[in-house]
Amino acid sequence: MTEPILQVDNCHVWFDIKGGLFTKKQTVKAVNGVSLQVRAGETFGLVGESGCGKSTLGRAIVKLYRPTSGTIRYKRQDITALKGEQAQEYRKHVQMIFQDPYASLDPRMTVSEIIREPMDIHDLYPRREREARVVELLQTVGLKPDHIRRYPHEFSGGQRQRIGIARTLALDPEFIVCDEPISALDVSIQAQVINLLEDIQKKLGISYLFIAHDLSMVKHISDHIGVMYLGHLVEIGPSRELYRHPLHPYTQGLLSAVPIPDPKRARERHRIVLDGEIPTPIDPKPCCPFATRCPKAMEKCFCAVPPSIQVDGRQVACFLYQEGGRAASEINIK
Ligand code: SF4
Repeated sequence: MTEPILQVDNCHVWFDIKGGLFTKKQTVKAVNGVSLQVRAGETFGLVGESGCGKSTLGRAIVKLYRPTSGTIRYKRQDITALKGEQAQEYRKHVQMIFQDPYASLDPRMTVSEIIREPMDIHDLYPRREREARVVELLQTVGLKPDHIRRYPHEFSGGQRQRIGIARTLALDPEFIVCDEPISALDVSIQAQVINLLEDIQKKLGISYLFIAHDLSMVKHISDHIGVMYLGHLVEIGPSRELYRHPLHPYTQGLLSAVPIPDPKRARERHRIVLDGEIPTPIDPKPCCPFATRCPKAMEKCFCAVPPSIQVDGRQVACFLYQEGGRAASEINIK
């Protein structure tokens, strides 16, 4: 097995909220002890409800946030403490595609300026070659060379996301954090952008961390999937097995809500409805993060955080799979 290109170990990203005259200081624990690995050329899908910390983790990986503790290693080097030129060099290799193609492009810049800007900042390629590189990148993402002088408002949402992808590719990155790159797009355009990302991966061998809440899209594109809940990674496994046989009660609930195109199979499926809202990540209690919504919660789930253990080739953080809990086969869903 190849060595991981990215290794996150026990990563915490916490934000302090200042206290007032009558309120004490509080801490938002957005990412709470996450560990994962991504191998070269693979796609790791990260799923979970809004507010679970998946985008915060993505931003920590591209150094937009500094982890409170834990390590993020890229090609064995811990990048959390990199500064100045070393951080700049790291950003050449690890880039991000942002969620909103309307907000992430400067409306006053032409397409050429938008895509060329990273090359100017990093002084990549001789100046006179940069324009040719912009044209090449436009063609890679399926846009025409004559789009080069236009402004972002002249394009549709899907085309803008393609411009964002071209800008991301400008520095020849090896790893891209795709932060919900399709959630702001029409359904008809989403598949086109996913296919484009897959084609680019095949051609250039780039690794992706693909963050999304659309589980069917994540299944389609990912080799491995991590399921996040309230700052914790509750299950990690190979994409196909995780979809066929989810182990964690939260993964089971999420997957039971994925629409099935076959009406007969959809009628036969056992739907798990997760009551209640995702709890607040402000000073969470030291218990299973899913305990307040879990249909299988036991007394001990409210007293301690379940450690992540290996079950059937997967990582699962749930007391049901610890010694004395029920066997995996007893808690399958149909
Ligand atoms: Fe549910 Fe308990 Fe497992 Fe948490 S540890 S997911 S509350 S059964």
